[in-house]
Amino acid sequence: MSRTPTHRGRHRGRRGAAVAAALLVLVTLPAASTADGPGAAHRDRAAADDARGRTAAQTVPGRAPADNVILLIGDGMGDAEITAARDYSVGAAGRLALDTLATTGRRTTFSVDERGRPVYVTDSAAGATAWATGRRTVNGRVSKTPGTNRPLPTLLEKARRHGYATGSVTTASVADATPAALTAHVTDRSCKGPADMAECPADTRAAGGAGSVVEQTVAARPDVLLGGGADHFAQTVRDGPYRGRTVLEQARAAGYQVVRDRAELTAARTDRPVLGLFAPDYLPVEWTGTPAAPGGTAPQRCAVHNPARPAGTPTLAESTRAALDQLTARRDRATGKGFFLQVEGASIDDRAHEADPCGQIGETVAFDRAVAVALAYAGRHPRTLVIVTADHGHATQILPEDARPPGLSSTLVTDEGGRMLLGYATAGSGGTQEHTGVTVPVAARGPLAHRVLGLRENTELFGTVCAALGLR
Ligand SMILES: [Zn+2]
Repeated sequence: MSRTPTHRGRHRGRRGAAVAAALLVLVTLPAASTADGPGAAHRDRAAADDARGRTAAQTVPGRAPADNVILLIGDGMGDAEITAARDYSVGAAGRLALDTLATTGRRTTFSVDERGRPVYVTDSAAGATAWATGRRTVNGRVSKTPGTNRPLPTLLEKARRHGYATGSVTTASVADATPAALTAHVTDRSCKGPADMAECPADTRAAGGAGSVVEQTVAARPDVLLGGGADHFAQTVRDGPYRGRTVLEQARAAGYQVVRDRAELTAARTDRPVLGLFAPDYLPVEWTGTPAAPGGTAPQRCAVHNPARPAGTPTLAESTRAALDQLTARRDRATGKGFFLQVEGASIDDRAHEADPCGQIGETVAFDRAVAVALAYAGRHPRTLVIVTADHGHATQILPEDARPPGLSSTLVTDEGGRMLLGYATAGSGGTQEHTGVTVPVAARGPLAHRVLGLRENTELFGTVCAALGLR
């Protein structure tokens, strides 16, 4: 089977830890996991909040509709992945935080080939390029055009140029495809560090290009950049003014304070940009369990503590809260301009590729807690547009309990005591599960939230964020 660049470099050495941790069984979820599951009253209030956001937008002449935008991307978080996480953690009739956004629609996800013809299943690089630049590109490419391979201006670059503070938070390397689409332009997503440039000859500094993702990211200089990827920053720059020094040294020279764990993140100053590198590459996932297998697994409960996760590693919700504190402190009091923040739950996708239902659900729940942080912030700062969506669907299927699917499957015993059979059948045993080409949900609250209603193109979020912040 031919592989797209979709999964290149995404799955190194993760399964060993997951399998070892799978030996831990029957761990009970804390009751607190239902704390964010409000019902109809909350949805009504959310609808009222959305309406208020629109009203505020219309009554301030000469000012952009929003002061702040928080865009949260669940990587590979299609409807099946959301439903599985909901069923497991808050129950089939419960509601996740992301379910409480009353203004919802769908987005297409397709990418294009070099000649601009549709490719029905995107990867995360082309998926992120669509919302970050408003243009579709080829799978594997980061914020550059199909065919001509030219850089496309990104939301983060435009927001920064217009005087907004900017931030990007992920559970992957900060050089991974989704965050990279905001801060870099490379021919291929694999070109994360100066030693990784084999697929990007035109982008090397020696060839007159802008360098690897991490070099370009430091130059783009977002105020807050949190995730993994220390290994990419440890690489040595090969050309240009920083030749012979590491990218981390380049970042420090650009004024970045580098933080490595939760305590250092909390103590970070707000008068200098923050680079949080909490892992060599991906952050360790939150939950573990037995991967799906041919013929199924014994009914299992997920282990909600991963022993391979260092105690000082911030959760996505904690990083999101820290990023919001940092960005709020940088608000321009003269113009009222706030910030643009992107938050990615990256390992929903990574775990779905590995047919690891507990890992996938744990990452979806962790992402949802970050959504709750964003919604709480928007509750205190009503001129904030919050958008929650995914870049593409994934392989998960929720099947009848007595089904005997031909692919991999696993039975989970949910918090409410039900049995949920999850199937993964886009690749066989030992293979990597595939993205799917479905439309994905998009939900919003705040100024211009109505612009997600209906079926939208995956490129339209770019224009929505530009309109919300008054970016040209
Ligand atoms: Zn993927």
